Amino acid sequence: MAEAEQDDLRVAHLDADAFYVSIELTRRPELRGRPVVVSGTGPRAVVTTASYEARRYGVGSAMPAARARRLCPDAVFIAPDFATYREVSARMMDLVRSHVERVEVVGLDEAYLDLEGLYSPRAAMRRLVAEIRAATQLTCSVGIGPNRLVAKVASDAEKPAGFVVLTRRQACERFGVSPPGLIPGIGPKTAARLGELGLTTLAAVGAAPERLLMERFGENHGRDIGRRARFEHDGRVGAPRKVISESRERTFDRDLHDPAQLREALARMAAELCAGLATHGRRGRTIAIKVRLDDFTTVTRARTVAQATCDAGVVTDVALQLLADYGPVRPVRLLGVRVAGLTSSDEDSDGRGTVAGGAGARAPADQLALPV
Ligand SMILES: [Mg+2]
Repeated sequence: MAEAEQDDLRVAHLDADAFYVSIELTRRPELRGRPVVVSGTGPRAVVTTASYEARRYGVGSAMPAARARRLCPDAVFIAPDFATYREVSARMMDLVRSHVERVEVVGLDEAYLDLEGLYSPRAAMRRLVAEIRAATQLTCSVGIGPNRLVAKVASDAEKPAGFVVLTRRQACERFGVSPPGLIPGIGPKTAARLGELGLTTLAAVGAAPERLLMERFGENHGRDIGRRARFEHDGRVGAPRKVISESRERTFDRDLHDPAQLREALARMAAELCAGLATHGRRGRTIAIKVRLDDFTTVTRARTVAQATCDAGVVTDVALQLLADYGPVRPVRLLGVRVAGLTSSDEDSDGRGTVAGGAGARAPADQLALPV
């Protein structure tokens, strides 16, 4: 690739192959070569990851587990073990950070790496992949390009164990015949509307007059679609996104109608959520619930309290009030609770220092004013 000079190789996207399944196979090597599916066990469980052997039967992520069983009755189903997945992820990301200074982790098994300043980006990435494999037995796919979009699409192009290096122009040539939905940020709805305009390939979308896209999708989105189709993208690898909210939610095995059961489920999730917040020294001022009914109507209700909190009593009280105020009229399929507007304890104690002694600065939890 004479065209791809050092300057063009600014960003890598690293993505472990079939992450959950691969970790399970390191523990149960006798299952290698067989269709393996990691999914929950309840009647509404969905597939989290399928081995490549299972994918050949049409089994894919986010598919109901029941459907996966019908498609591939011989598959071995394994319940997810997120504690182990997080631990392997941490080891993998430590290795990544030992090679590259600027890393943007976007999932347990995925990260963007800033390659600028590396003497030989390709060689460095080859070494990294080998080290990850040696340390975790996992294979990764890598995409390298001038920006995050090229890198992401390149890493997906030859999974598993792919290693694809492309300039922007090469990406346009290689994926020009692909459907627009290949591009992250062009979802099924947008793709369908592009199809109505006769734009069924990335090359067609990229060559379409910007005015047409802007008329159809609005100024910003329209312009963005055209740019993405030409693989023009901001190349920056950002710092890890700041966590501004945390939530717990649960889809019930059976729809719940009994208010007592709903309250109990919500209180349990609020307690779990607050325990997690407390562990990380986080508090938030906005408490919200999410309710999805059996007809998929989904509502959220939120209330902001006077002082950031991670107190399970406060969060539970507000969440239960919000639930009572909403009063679901149909059976509930999913229930969730969220605390947003998070600050860390450090920021919080700084703030407290400046208002020390101020009225209400240390109001006990049960005196918190709740705006109506
Ligand atoms: Mg992956």
